[in-house]
Amino acid sequence: MDTLEKLEILTDAAKYDVSCSSSGSNRKNSSKGLGNGHIAGICHSWSEDGRCISLLKILFTNKCVYDCEYCINRSSNVIKRAEFTPREVADLTINFYRRNYIEGLFLSSGIIKNPNYTMELLIKTADILRNEYNYNGYIHMKSIPGAESDLVKKMGLLVDRMSVNVELPTEKSLKILAPQKSIGAIESSMDFAKQKIVQRQNEIKLYKHTPKFLPAGQTTQMIIGAGKESDFDIVSRAENLYDSYSLKRVFYSAFVPVVKSEFTKDVKKAPLLREHRLYQADWLLRFYGFRSRDLLNEKNKNFDLRIDPKTDWAINNIEKFPVEINKASFWDLMKIPGIGRVSAEKIIKARKYRKLEYWNLKALNISIKKARNFITVNGKYQGFKFKDQKDLKERLSLFEPKSFEQLSFFG
Ligand code: SF4
Repeated sequence: MDTLEKLEILTDAAKYDVSCSSSGSNRKNSSKGLGNGHIAGICHSWSEDGRCISLLKILFTNKCVYDCEYCINRSSNVIKRAEFTPREVADLTINFYRRNYIEGLFLSSGIIKNPNYTMELLIKTADILRNEYNYNGYIHMKSIPGAESDLVKKMGLLVDRMSVNVELPTEKSLKILAPQKSIGAIESSMDFAKQKIVQRQNEIKLYKHTPKFLPAGQTTQMIIGAGKESDFDIVSRAENLYDSYSLKRVFYSAFVPVVKSEFTKDVKKAPLLREHRLYQADWLLRFYGFRSRDLLNEKNKNFDLRIDPKTDWAINNIEKFPVEINKASFWDLMKIPGIGRVSAEKIIKARKYRKLEYWNLKALNISIKKARNFITVNGKYQGFKFKDQKDLKERLSLFEPKSFEQLSFFG
């Protein structure tokens, strides 16, 4: 099999992995069209300093000794298989990089023989790139759960970002859907990586030339909708992962039934809108000071898909509103639906000089389309005169897109 054929198979096999930041397009080219979003191979992610970069996104191999119920590459699935060598992946990366097609590599893999053996091949690839080609571009690699910590350390010293996928939100689902994986092995890899990151942060204060260890941190991915977990289970799990392992990101991947399996045969494709709401909630956990219990609880276990989680929270806690824009703390401003960090900062800065009025917010380019229902500005309220929470939710849900799709540049 030549390299091009392998590349075709292994870029396609990598498209279900969402733990780098772009995925999910299924737009195909028409006979005379330009471009093809269906063909996988290049994805985008963010570097340590926030730049968006294009990555060659491939699997090292789609051969796998494991038989995870949800995965197209499971050992029992009859598909065409291919496997690169470390040098082939390194050469492809360098050749694409030199042609300016990509700025980095995202490399994941099925498990060949066992986790240690697979990790050694991935490490060899990174080693050729860094030490033979002197390549200093971005590398994101998947760490194989169950591999020895010495190998995790070697990988962490060569790559920028590493991900260990938890795969499913609960141990129960993992046991059913990926029985060869263990939560203990996944979490101990994450824990080891976290310890090493912290150790490096401490050592750099003493020794300027301490080698880098995962400068872009570690991430994970969770498949949603394959098991019976509620949104509350999922956000609680994400919160626990952020708290315990200082992850940079948890990626959520709506379950796609790409393979026949006894356990998933009746499970439908999870709605993309659910995935979107989970990403919104994740954002609230990471940047807005929310905890999972603020958003959901045992009685109210799933997000209302009609409305974004922050607005839903505000309506459920309507007694906390309206807040006065001239007096609210930074964190209270951040909790107002429609007000983000940048707007909250602008308000704090502007009110040092004067008491704000509605026209000041407009002049500051702060949209109050949604926020006006939750604020007063210098004592004045300009929101809806709603009957109750249900009424307000109905009215605000009208502003939400009816289906979730890519935003238009020209809308
Ligand atoms: S370990 Fe499981 S999820 Fe990963 S490639 Fe193999 S079958 Fe797929």
